[in-house]
Amino acid sequence: MTKACKLAAGNWKMNGLRADLEQARILAQAIAKPNCGVLLCPPATLIAAMADAVAGTAVMVGGQDCHAQISGAHTGDVSAQMLVDSGARYVILGHSERRADHGESSVDVAAKAGAAHGAGLVAIICVGETEAERDSGQTLDVVLGQLAASLPEGATAANTVIAYEPVWAIGTGRTPTLEQIAEVHDALRESLPDAAISLLYGGSVKPGNATEIFAIANVDGALVGGASLKAEDFGAIISALGAA
Ligand code: PEP
Repeated sequence: MTKACKLAAGNWKMNGLRADLEQARILAQAIAKPNCGVLLCPPATLIAAMADAVAGTAVMVGGQDCHAQISGAHTGDVSAQMLVDSGARYVILGHSERRADHGESSVDVAAKAGAAHGAGLVAIICVGETEAERDSGQTLDVVLGQLAASLPEGATAANTVIAYEPVWAIGTGRTPTLEQIAEVHDALRESLPDAAISLLYGGSVKPGNATEIFAIANVDGALVGGASLKAEDFGAIISALGAA
């Protein structure tokens, strides 16, 4: 079986102005030859400028969402092709903040992922349970249900990454136990159409907990929010992944 690739992906969410590109430059210098893939997903306004800022380095750039259509009357939206044209290689899809703030369903996510694949992007598809769903014992049903409904036809390790992000762990400083992460990642691996698809954990990953999370079997990397904004913190997480 081909092994899944290691990836440290940073999600800047709605944070970052041009002055903050300096953090991407510092990161690119600091990690020169990482033992894993390194990705930063800034807001759409910074994608092209960040791609220029890190050109020729190990840092790749991605978007945080795309529309399912190639073009058309969709005010405020960005297509997968536009992301590619701006220098993106990846796109995050179905983040819980988009599922909650924009009512995106897994069917919507699958359509967007199909568009991302069509444009040549790698889709990072996010799944994760709420705290109420975990408390009522529904975690695996929810996560595996989201996975099945969010994956488009033709998803392979070459065009798809899955991020397990418990909603209650995002931006809260709380993380599941290592056993809880392992249980979900093991179940996800079993359910993938291609066992070499990378599985990221996301939710309050920081330098202090990265090493123990990356030691879990079936964790191939992380999707990192807050700790990806500062080159020093994200660099430390990248080092931990490279050493895992
Ligand atoms: C995220 O935005 O995907 C995320 C995991 O955020 P944080 O690392 O801040 O919890």
